[in-house]
Amino acid sequence: MIVVPCPNCGPRNSSDLRNCGEVVERPDPQITTIAEWRSYLYLRKNTADWMRETWYCRNGCRKYFVVERNTVTNEIRESGL
Ligand SMILES: [Zn+2]
Repeated sequence: MIVVPCPNCGPRNSSDLRNCGEVVERPDPQITTIAEWRSYLYLRKNTADWMRETWYCRNGCRKYFVVERNTVTNEIRESGL
């Protein structure tokens, strides 16, 4: 269990939140191929290093926010909306 700082509610236990996975930039639908859409929807880097993730504050403000977290040590160095 880790403590994640919600920008609205402050430090929260991870059981109060939902990890929605790494931040992936949505490709332009006008120029994206089917293979690129498939990659956007289903493939993630899942690196063992610093990663930007989207979290959802489900037992607090009910907002999404971005956290930069080390996936090896669970250290968090930044969070924001
Ligand atoms: Zn919150």
